[in-house]
Amino acid sequence: MGSMLKGKTALVTGSTSGIGLAYARAFAAEGANVMLNGFGDAAEIDKDRKSIESEFGVKAGYNGADLTKPLETEALVKDTAESLGGLHILVNNAGVQHTAPVEDFPREKWDQIIAVNLSSAFHTIQHAIPHMRKAGWGRIINTASAHGLVASVEKSAYVASKHGIVGLTKVIALETAREDITCNAICPGWTMTELIKPQIQARADKIGGSFEEGGTDLVLEKQPSGEFVQVEELAAYAVFLCSDAARQITGTSLPMDGGWTAQ
Ligand code: NAD
Repeated sequence: MGSMLKGKTALVTGSTSGIGLAYARAFAAEGANVMLNGFGDAAEIDKDRKSIESEFGVKAGYNGADLTKPLETEALVKDTAESLGGLHILVNNAGVQHTAPVEDFPREKWDQIIAVNLSSAFHTIQHAIPHMRKAGWGRIINTASAHGLVASVEKSAYVASKHGIVGLTKVIALETAREDITCNAICPGWTMTELIKPQIQARADKIGGSFEEGGTDLVLEKQPSGEFVQVEELAAYAVFLCSDAARQITGTSLPMDGGWTAQ
């Protein structure tokens, strides 16, 4: 446990599971108050929230804003700043996926993926920056993906949303470049979370193997390391981006992908 982020408040969207929960825990471990957001079982979410408070001695809130709704998203930012003492770190992390060839891709899935993975970040950033300016310090981190840098078949909406957030990251970095505010994207490769379980199961069914064999087959297709990225590794990356040593890192889209995008 450290104190690098003591006195700071972090809002992490999509932090009721997976990568987002790991980010929230890592910021709290450095002394930041954290606002959780996302869907899930109310009792489970409250358990995670309370364990962050007791393990790390910080304040942890929860706001279940649906990020497809701009007014709820705006209220999420306001609630964070009002209830937890400002807003210094914003992580746009919530994400959804759907896979299908483009001609079969349901229009409502396209709309949902663009809304959650891309547009919600516009809405949070727009309302968060004034709080960061007031504090004279801010860090914006967007969870993009290896799919923010390269494409794969059957992921038209996801790849478009992730390339979009890489572009948004660059614009925000330029607009805040003369201030102590940075904006970067993290681009994970395959990371074992709920998001990819349907894809692992589909691969397992295709090769007639177990869930584990499906996962190995999926990873090896793209990721030369042959290993899943760990959520704690991504969280450590995010904490580094909030350190003083990272002040000049802005506008970047940093892969953590076992070599996927080096090919
Ligand atoms: P996850 O399914 O565990 O987490 C997604 C989170 O987003 C959950 O908390 C969920 O409740 C929340 N969410 C979904 N729709 C929402 C909405 N409308 N409003 C509010 N919250 C909503 O998956 P994860 O893998 O931890 O995903 C986190 C991010 O990482 C996503 O942006 C995803 O695209 C990205 N990513 C994941 C991988 C991977 O392999 N798992 C790889 C690259 C990028």
